[in-house]
Amino acid sequence: MHTFEYVRATDTREVVQLLADDPAAACLAGGTTQLDLMKDGVLEPPTLIDITRLPLHGIERRGEILHVGALVTMEELAADATVAERLPMVRESLLQGASVQLRNMATIGGNLLQRTRCRYFRDPTVSACNKRTPDSGCAAVEGVARMHAVLGASERCIALHASDLAVALVALDAAVHVQGPSHSRTVPLTEFYLTAAESPQRENVLEHAELITEVEIPLPPAAARSGYLKVRDRTSYEFALTSAAVLLVVDHATIRQARVGLGGVGTKPWRAYEAEHVLTGAPATTATFLDAADATMRDAWTVPGTAFKVPLARRTLVRELQNVSGVDV
Ligand code: FAD
Ligand code: SF4
Repeated sequence: MHTFEYVRATDTREVVQLLADDPAAACLAGGTTQLDLMKDGVLEPPTLIDITRLPLHGIERRGEILHVGALVTMEELAADATVAERLPMVRESLLQGASVQLRNMATIGGNLLQRTRCRYFRDPTVSACNKRTPDSGCAAVEGVARMHAVLGASERCIALHASDLAVALVALDAAVHVQGPSHSRTVPLTEFYLTAAESPQRENVLEHAELITEVEIPLPPAAARSGYLKVRDRTSYEFALTSAAVLLVVDHATIRQARVGLGGVGTKPWRAYEAEHVLTGAPATTATFLDAADATMRDAWTVPGTAFKVPLARRTLVRELQNVSGVDV
């Protein structure tokens, strides 16, 4: 690993000023993404600002909104009583991610900003990677692409956004609070991420000198049921091949409200609006669920290595809609 300066910060404004003063500096939270990429030589920031001492560790329910500090760990959020009671799909997305050891280190802010697992991005000896080096090509399109994306993908980049939590949060209309040197703003997660087709190099709308300080999660209606289904090559310590976060309010066998997020398939955490449109107001039946899954995967862009994901994602969504609704299981 290259040498770098280590700075431990205790004040949020100090961090954003340090970032503003140094366009190449980077933040260190749990380090489970950042340090891996530095060890692999993909990232070489001259300065690493340790933000773990910032006062961003709280979880607080205010009315029907859960406010989660950016430095809350994955394990802490999964153990929260409100999450257990009102947000099962958030809890399940967290507990099916990584390992207990990693979840005790990894923060919520870091999880939302984790970089792709594309093996070509993570190997600086591979020259063709538009995400690392603009206009250099994409080695994955003709390479090993089993863990890559089919939605929001193009020949320029098919890198997957691998966060499980983000899939549940986009479905719930969660938002991030962002602090900059002289401003703060709130960005809905559905507007936070960019697709690889839009911009391989830039994954979200966060500016360099901005810090995520908090995630705001609206609590769903008490009548809602939700869940997260993750399909992977082994049952623990593995990223999703496909996943589905589903929230439904069903009344007298009619779907009154539907929220759907898909993982393992998108270059960003995928909000499946087309599925929601088909589901809302329709009878809660497997026929409806199949129509919703078809609508969602209609625009998939595949390469030989990712083609299997279209039918798999379809089946994953139908199964989770069945699980959550209790229909035809
Ligand atoms: P860091 O590594 O410290 O930071 C990540 C990035 O975010 C860096 O660029 C950093 O500068 C930036 N950053 C961090 N916090 C902030 C902030 N508040 N504001 C602005 N920038 C910030 N994830 C899943 O969802 N599912 C899985 O199954 C899964 N499996 C994994 C398996 C392994 C072996 C590993 C290593 C990781 C896995 N992960 C998985 C990813 C893991 O969840 C992330 O690495 C972790 O959540 C990142 O959090 P962190 O606090 O360690 O972030
Ligand atoms: Fe790079 Fe994206 Fe292609 Fe991976 S998929 S090699 S990250 S351009």
